Amino acid sequence: MRRTIRTRRRRRRWRKRRAAVLLVIMALMLTGIVTFIRARSTQEYRSVNKSIGEYVVQANDGILAADTREKMEKSLYVPRKIDKSKKLIAFTFDDGPMQGKTERVLKALEKENFRATFFMLGENVKQYPQVAEQIYKSGNEVAGHSWDHPLLTKLSESQIKSQQDRMNQALYEACGSKAVSFRPPYGGLNDSVKKIIDGPLILWNIDTLDWKTKSAKATEKIILEKAKDGDIVLMHDIHESTVQAVEHVLPILKQRGYEVCTVSELLEAKGVQVKKGDVVLSAHQIR
Ligand SMILES: [Zn+2]
Repeated sequence: MRRTIRTRRRRRRWRKRRAAVLLVIMALMLTGIVTFIRARSTQEYRSVNKSIGEYVVQANDGILAADTREKMEKSLYVPRKIDKSKKLIAFTFDDGPMQGKTERVLKALEKENFRATFFMLGENVKQYPQVAEQIYKSGNEVAGHSWDHPLLTKLSESQIKSQQDRMNQALYEACGSKAVSFRPPYGGLNDSVKKIIDGPLILWNIDTLDWKTKSAKATEKIILEKAKDGDIVLMHDIHESTVQAVEHVLPILKQRGYEVCTVSELLEAKGVQVKKGDVVLSAHQIR
């Protein structure tokens, strides 16, 4: 009888010890998993979407000297340190560049170490080549928006091609690069546009209506109330009200834990690969 009691006690003690050991193992595993997830989410990544980057190198192949190609490949893959765990919003500016306004947008972005994508008109690039160059050199994204803003769906295929070629020529002369991606004026798309335009077609999912309200307050309000992680915000760097809204809203977004980035950076961070003919509305909406 005494023996059985002792054995029972010993068994109970052993069971308790086994439970404790199991608990320690489980706790260790959990710590490991958490550390692993944390390490992954703060991992740095390359700033340019690889597929877009490779596409640009290809797109520029015909016009680049051998050493320029090398330089370009390097410049396309310069990493910008972004905390991937942060909420990301891509800011996009159409219809510029505009001397006296675009530079202020660049300055406001630089102040917070943010970047954005500029969908430029060829005719404005020709007028203000030094501003286009500044966009490129400051690590912001050079993108295209046609030569002079026609509704492309009303044009013939050769006219669409001419809009693209003239725009790219102006961009190349100003900063040494063609457009990384394209946004059709008015978001006008059809099969001809998709066939002719080289590269992904970038639309937006947050329209600030800055061109309509011409109000810094109204523009800001839409951004702060609507924009969330993964969104692409549409603005125009040709209005004084938009410049003011950007200057005011960027520090607020930073405070709220957002990182403002280029479209390529957004897609890269979210693991989205895009190619010619893809229509991108946000990181979560690709058609
Ligand atoms: Zn436009």
